[in-house]
Amino acid sequence: MSYQHIRLPQHGEKVSIKDGKLAVPDHPILGFVEGDGIGADITSASLRVWDAAVARAYGGARKVHWCELYMGEKAAGIYQGDYFPAETLAALKDLVVSIKGPLTTPVGGGFRSLNVSLRQEMDLYACVRPVRYFPGVPSPLRRPEEVDVVIFRENTEDVYAGIEYPSGSEDNQKLARFLREELHAEFFEDAGLGVKPVSSFASKRLIRKAIEYAIERGRASVTLVHKGNIMKFTEGAFRNWGYEVATEEFREHVVTEDELWDEHGGQMPDGKVLIKDRIADIMFQLLLLRPAEFDVIATSNLNGDYLSDAAAAEVGGIGIAPGANIADHIAVFEATHGTAPKYANQNKVNPSSLLFSGVMMLDYIGWREASELINDAFVAALADKTVTYDFARLMPNATTVSTSGFADALVDKINAGG
Ligand code: NAP
Repeated sequence: MSYQHIRLPQHGEKVSIKDGKLAVPDHPILGFVEGDGIGADITSASLRVWDAAVARAYGGARKVHWCELYMGEKAAGIYQGDYFPAETLAALKDLVVSIKGPLTTPVGGGFRSLNVSLRQEMDLYACVRPVRYFPGVPSPLRRPEEVDVVIFRENTEDVYAGIEYPSGSEDNQKLARFLREELHAEFFEDAGLGVKPVSSFASKRLIRKAIEYAIERGRASVTLVHKGNIMKFTEGAFRNWGYEVATEEFREHVVTEDELWDEHGGQMPDGKVLIKDRIADIMFQLLLLRPAEFDVIATSNLNGDYLSDAAAAEVGGIGIAPGANIADHIAVFEATHGTAPKYANQNKVNPSSLLFSGVMMLDYIGWREASELINDAFVAALADKTVTYDFARLMPNATTVSTSGFADALVDKINAGG
């Protein structure tokens, strides 16, 4: 494939998909999008740390060959005002695995959210957010070390379907008339109307991914989070489809919570994954009070939106929470915070959200030795209280360093062996 502005690196090979599995060469070409605002600062810092960890782990036998792709303001400068060029979309698909910084989204007008466009155009149906505690990170919890969950949030329907009709519009009136006259629905005059589609197809592929992840990683449970007591045919159906996928496709690997008590006397058999479900409102409370009971979580779009930010806040907030949007194989890893424009180009902010998204990416391509080195270096930097401003304001006697200074500290730790 030839590109107009994208330059593929001279060395390295593309990641591919063989027999339904990701095939990663030892010298893969991976894509990165710098992002807007603080994107340039956190990307250059993170690239140095990822490269140092890979070099240390594999001594040159493995190396990432980075290919810069353009979205957002940088793209607009290069592609005559186009914020999401077609060749970027093509390259994200072609390279299979990429990572991106944050992108600006104007509120109430302007262009459509680039992040939402990206997820839709590439059908990145699972938003995956691991939330775990690292010793030394400031946390409001008494036992933050009990938080270790991976949230799989459905990324294509529910509120993300965006089917809404404003109060007073012609379409709204048409729909209101149909609902009242044909379906005998009752609601106040002038209500804005929205449709919440939740399908078996989209629910099942998301839940399937969560269960596969739990089995592969030896995780203890998958919790289906829903509001099915009220929204029976959308949220409740999500729950029911979840149990269907679990028992029809993964029978040998799973035990449902009912089976746990009816057939196993409450004793979880070895090597199986427990499938349970919780109603969304109580889930927020449980995740705060008894986080140790949760492991992998699969949930619909809006629940997952709230839950992933709330969970992140328990262990350091959005400055550190990583994320990814994943289709069957194609994956775009991303910082979960925004562009923080007031800090742009000040070399000040915490690069950890993007950094840990890269750690997820290294895990995803199977390079766990490198990702572990970054985890260890991070814990060691925190033990030294060498942190960026956001953590420093929560930690007594910390040394505040810049974005690049934090990367330097991590690279030193990696090169020193942890
Ligand atoms: P934001 O950029 O996430 O920033 C909000 C605040 O969070 C910052 O002022 C800062 O807090 C803190 N923060 C964010 N990133 C940080 C980091 N790396 N290190 C330390 N602190 C960090 O949210 P926003 O101001 O609401 O949004 C700005 C723009 O980003 C908007 O255009 C929005 O649409 C876009 N956005 C993009 C994405 C994405 O691309 N995935 C996600 C969310 C928002 P303090 O001021 O307290 O230091």
